[in-house]
Amino acid sequence: MKATAAASAAAAATTVIAPGVASAAPAAPAQPDTNQPAAKKSGNIPTPAQYFGTPIGTDGYLAQWKDMVPYFKLIGQRSERVNYQEVGKTTLGNPYVLLTISSPQNLARLDYYTSINARLADPRGLSDSDAKKLATEGLPFYFVQAGIHSTEVGNSQAAIEWAYRLATEQSDYLKDILDNLIILMVPCQNPDGLVLVNDYFAATANTTFSRTYPDLYNKYNGHDDNRDWIMLTQTESNYNISILNKYHPQVFQDSHQAGSGAPRLFTPPYLSPYDVNIDPILVQQTDTVGLAMQRGMTAAGMKGNGWGVEYDYWTPSRQYCVYHGAARILTEAASVSNLAYPLVGNGPLGRQDKDINFIEPYDSNTWTLRNIIDWVSEAFYSGLETVAYDTYNWLYNSYRVAHKAVTRTSPYAYVIEAGQRDPQAVFDALTIFHKGAVEIHQAKSAFSVGSKTYAAGSYIIYMKQPYAGFAKTLLEVQDYPLLLQYPGGPPQQPYDVTAQTLPMLLGFKADLVGSQFDANATLISAVKPPAVTMPTAPPNTGAYALGPESYGVFRIVAALQRKNIPTFRAAAAFTDGGRNYPAGTFLVQPTDAARQVLQDQANATGIPVYAVGTVPAVAGIQLKPGTRIGMLKPPDNMPSGWLMWMFDQYDVNYSVVVHDDYANLAGKYDAIIMPDGVSRNSIVNGLSATRYPSDWAWAFGVGTAGFTALHDFVANGGTLVAYGSGTTTAQTLFSLPITPVLPNDDSVFFCPGSILSQEIDPNDPAAWGMEADHPVWMDGDQAYKLTSTTTYPVHVVAKYPDSGDQLQSGWLIGGQYLNGAVNGLSWNIGNGYLLTFGSEIGFRTWNRGEQKMLFNAMYYGPSQKLTADQFQRLGR
Ligand SMILES: [Zn+2]
Repeated sequence: MKATAAASAAAAATTVIAPGVASAAPAAPAQPDTNQPAAKKSGNIPTPAQYFGTPIGTDGYLAQWKDMVPYFKLIGQRSERVNYQEVGKTTLGNPYVLLTISSPQNLARLDYYTSINARLADPRGLSDSDAKKLATEGLPFYFVQAGIHSTEVGNSQAAIEWAYRLATEQSDYLKDILDNLIILMVPCQNPDGLVLVNDYFAATANTTFSRTYPDLYNKYNGHDDNRDWIMLTQTESNYNISILNKYHPQVFQDSHQAGSGAPRLFTPPYLSPYDVNIDPILVQQTDTVGLAMQRGMTAAGMKGNGWGVEYDYWTPSRQYCVYHGAARILTEAASVSNLAYPLVGNGPLGRQDKDINFIEPYDSNTWTLRNIIDWVSEAFYSGLETVAYDTYNWLYNSYRVAHKAVTRTSPYAYVIEAGQRDPQAVFDALTIFHKGAVEIHQAKSAFSVGSKTYAAGSYIIYMKQPYAGFAKTLLEVQDYPLLLQYPGGPPQQPYDVTAQTLPMLLGFKADLVGSQFDANATLISAVKPPAVTMPTAPPNTGAYALGPESYGVFRIVAALQRKNIPTFRAAAAFTDGGRNYPAGTFLVQPTDAARQVLQDQANATGIPVYAVGTVPAVAGIQLKPGTRIGMLKPPDNMPSGWLMWMFDQYDVNYSVVVHDDYANLAGKYDAIIMPDGVSRNSIVNGLSATRYPSDWAWAFGVGTAGFTALHDFVANGGTLVAYGSGTTTAQTLFSLPITPVLPNDDSVFFCPGSILSQEIDPNDPAAWGMEADHPVWMDGDQAYKLTSTTTYPVHVVAKYPDSGDQLQSGWLIGGQYLNGAVNGLSWNIGNGYLLTFGSEIGFRTWNRGEQKMLFNAMYYGPSQKLTADQFQRLGR
C-alpha cells in the first residue's frame, strides 16, 4: 500500500497529465497514508523583487516568461508547500506550467484528496452518507489561472506574487487556507502570448514604436483562445482540460482585464442568461465566490468594483469547467495605459454613479499596474477564504451536482446513427465528447427506438452520466431568450455567440431520445474513425472514387496534392456498378501510389474509397497539381488564424500573403483566401512603418497599387475566396453588383452568432457535396440582393429561404429581412474566379460542414476544366 502510494506520487510529479478518459466505474478513494512524510525541501526563496531585480507591478516593467519559469521552478524546489510541474510544451514550444499548492501534509496526501474529488464528481454507487463522510474528509480544489489573454498583463504578474506568498508566508491566516484547500495555479494559460507580448514590450522600450505586440498572441487564435472550450483545438486548451479532468476542482478562477473605463474589478454574479445545462448549484456557488471577492475588496477599501454587468453565463465556448463541476469565476480588472503605465484621467476614473451592483465608485484619477495586482490579489485571497472556511459545503455540493447528473431520467440519450454521410463530422464530434470525459457507448447489434432501427456501430450518449451536460449543450438546439434593454428597446448584447449546435455546425445527425430503450452497447475507450476496407483495384480504364460529402475529404486532397497525384472531379452525378456518385466526386487513376495515399487517409478519416469500373463521360475538372494557396492575414486577424489551424491540420499547401508578394501575386499563388476581417484598409494601409519595427515589414501596407494588384490577380485568372466582411472588401475591389439588405439597427435586425436556414445548390462547384439545406453560421454579418446578373457572369450558390423561420439555433431578431436574400455567389471576373459569402463560412473551426465550400472553391478556381471526352480519359 505504502509503496504503491509512493510510486504513484512520484509518477504524478514527473509525468505529463494525460487527457481525461471516461471511466464507468470510478475507483474507491485511496486510503490516506498517514505515514507518508511531507516532502523535504529547504532553501531560501528570494522575494520577487530580489529575483527579478525590479518589484513586480513597477510602472513600465513586465517580468518575462524566461525568468518566470525558473522562479516558479525554484519555488517548487525549495518550498514544501509547492509542487512545480511542466505539463507539456505549448504550440510554440514554451513550457506550460502548473503549480500545486497546499500545506506540506496535504501535498503528501495529494493522491488521496484527488481520489475523493474524483469519487464525488462521479458518485455512481456512492451512498449519501458516504458522500457526507467524503465531504468531511476531503479538501476542495481551487484552480486559478492567469494570462490567457496576453495583453491583459497584470494577472500573470500577480501570479508571481501569489506563488511567493503562498510558498513562504508563516501567518495563521495563510496556514489556515493551505490546511483547508489545494490550490492549482496555472500562472499563464498562454505562455506563447506572454513571451510574444512581454518580450516585445521589453524590446521596444525607449523607442518611438508602439509597445503592444501587433499580431495574434497565440499562433492560431489570439484573443479567441478563450473561445476554444467547445472544439478543444489548441494544445493549451487540452492541457487545461487535462488538469480539470484529473482534479475536478470546485472553483476555477479565470483572471482577465477589461477596458480602462470598466469597473476596477468585475467579478460574478453574471448577467442573464445562464445556459440551462449549468447546474443551479454551480450558478449559486459562482455568485458566492464573486460576492466574497467583492466583500473582500470593499472591506479593504478598494473601490470601483462591480458585478452583474456585461458578462453572461451562456456559451460553453468560453467555459468548459462549469460543465465539469467547477464554478467559473471570471475576474476582469480595468486596464492601464500602454500595458504597464499609469492611466491618469482628468477626474476620478470610471463611472461615478452608485448602484446596487456598483456600490462605491472609484475615487482616484490614477490607475496603475500595481493597482491591478492589488485588486485582483485581494479578490483571489477572498475567493480562497470563502472556500477554505466552508469546505464541507463545497465538497458536498460537488456531490449534489454530480448526483443529479448521474440520476437524470430525462432526456434518456442521444443516438448518433452509424454510417452517416460525413464520417469526419461524427469522428470530430465524438473526439470532443471523449476529451470532455463524456462516456460514449457503441451498439454491438442493431436496436430499435420506437419505430426506428439503428444499425450496429451506432453511438449512444446516455444522459445519466457525470458530464452529460457538456454533451447535451453541444448536441441540442439553443433557444436564446429574448432579452431587451427595456421593453420595446434594443437587445441586450450577449457577451459572445448564442449557438453551438454541433450537428448543424459539423453536419451530422444526432437523435434525442426522451425515454428509456434497450441496446446492447459497450463503453468505448477510444474514438476511432470507422474502419474502411479498400476496394479491389479497378481496371486501368477505371478509377478510385471518393465522395464529396465529407469535409474531411480535403485532408485527403491535400495529401494527394503533396504526392503530386493527379486528382479529378466529376462535374455531374453519375452511376457505376449500381452506386450513385454525386457531382463533385473525386476520381484518381488506379496507381499504386494513389492507392497507398488513399488507404492511409481513409484509415485516418473513415472516409470510404470506392472503385469505378468505367470513368463516366461527364464534364469535370483536374485539380491544379500543387495548388498554391495564399492566406490574407492582417496582423491580429483571428478568422485568418483559425483557418490557418484548419489548413495545418489538413496539411494544405498555403502561406500568408506578405507585402512583397503583391509585386507578383500570380507568381506565388493560384488562389487567395480573404477571410472575415480583411478590409481594404488592412491591405492598403496595413501596419504603419513608423509605429512598428522592420520585422513587421511583411504586414506593412501595400498602398492602392497593391489593392489594384489583387484585382488584377483575379481578372488575369486567379481565384479569390471571400467571406464575412471579406465580401465587403471584394465588393469594393470589383464593384460587385450586390446591395446589403440587413438593417443596421440592432432593434430591427440582430443575429449575434446563430445558425440560420439556407438553400444551397449542390450542383454549383463551390457547393459540391453539400446538402441542399445545410445551415450557415452568421455572426453580425451581411446578406445581399443581387442587382445585376450581367455585370459579371454570376451564380447563386447559397441563399436564405424566401419565407419561413430563418433561425435554426441561437437568437435572431428580424429574420424576415433575410427572406430571399443571397449569401453565396460564384463569379467569373475576367479570366478569374471569385466566391463570396456574406456569412462566415469559416468561424473558429466550428462550422466545418459549410467550410467545405471554401475548400471546394479554392481548388476549383485554379483547376483545369475538362470536356466529357477529356474527363473520361482522366489525363490518360
Ligand atoms: Zn480577457
